[in-house]
Amino acid sequence: MDPLEEAVQLLKKSSHTTAFTGAGVSVESGIPPFRGENGLWSRYDPIVLDIGYFYSHPASAWKVIKEIFYDYFGKAKPNPAHYALAEMEKRGQLTAIITQNIDNLHQEAGSKNVIEYHGNSQRLICPKCGATYRPEEIDLSKLPPRCKKDGEILKPDFVFFGEPIPPEAAAKATEEAQTADVFLLIGTTGEVMPASMVPQMAKQYGAKIIEINPEESAYTHSITDVYVRGKAGVIMPAIAKRLVER
Ligand code: NAD
Repeated sequence: MDPLEEAVQLLKKSSHTTAFTGAGVSVESGIPPFRGENGLWSRYDPIVLDIGYFYSHPASAWKVIKEIFYDYFGKAKPNPAHYALAEMEKRGQLTAIITQNIDNLHQEAGSKNVIEYHGNSQRLICPKCGATYRPEEIDLSKLPPRCKKDGEILKPDFVFFGEPIPPEAAAKATEEAQTADVFLLIGTTGEVMPASMVPQMAKQYGAKIIEINPEESAYTHSITDVYVRGKAGVIMPAIAKRLVER
């Protein structure tokens, strides 16, 4: 059986499917991954996302953060993979998405149950009073941006290097890993800790693992049951279509 059909058969039998997405699901929206030849880290220094550096050099960290996440990512739109996942949820074929992405594109495509494992760039938070703002509510031409209530420097509400995973997201991801029949890994290398442990746990708890990626990953020859080689924006709509055809 071809891998795509095998994936469809597993998904049809599943009563609890969870998607686990990485940077690859947004590549066709024009957002490059961090790693690899054309990755963001070939152009930018990852130090700007280190929490210690952010608090000690907020103005220079914000300059680069604004360029990457607000001038550049901010214009991206969901692609057919995001829409296919949203459609599957609406039809009752997908329970949740655990995403490592911070680009808000699953939510923009209409997905409701999105577990933001690494937070969300489309929220700015005041580390002092906890107030949150949408980026468009804040004047990002004056850096660093400040809280309208107490004047504290705002931080993008995503997980910086050196910060813990938001506890609620970690707990929900664990629950998904322990209860899902099928885990759908889309566009993730499996190299980012501790996120990469979530699919490992799902496997230990008995989930079947379907992987969609044009390149093999750390999962392909370890926990993956069905590897569908290809781009998320091509494979996901094809899967979603076959799930209603027969
Ligand atoms: P990653 O683990 O997210 O890996 C990216 C993967 O995407 C690779 O395995 C690559 O082969 C695959 N890929 C490339 N094009 C694809 C396509 N069209 N369809 C499906 N898969 C495709 O690694 P990273 O990029 O180093 O990211 C590190 C962390 O930063 C992750 O948590 C990631 O989610 C986050 N990040 C988020 C964004 C975003 O919010 N869009 C962008 C970059 C990185």
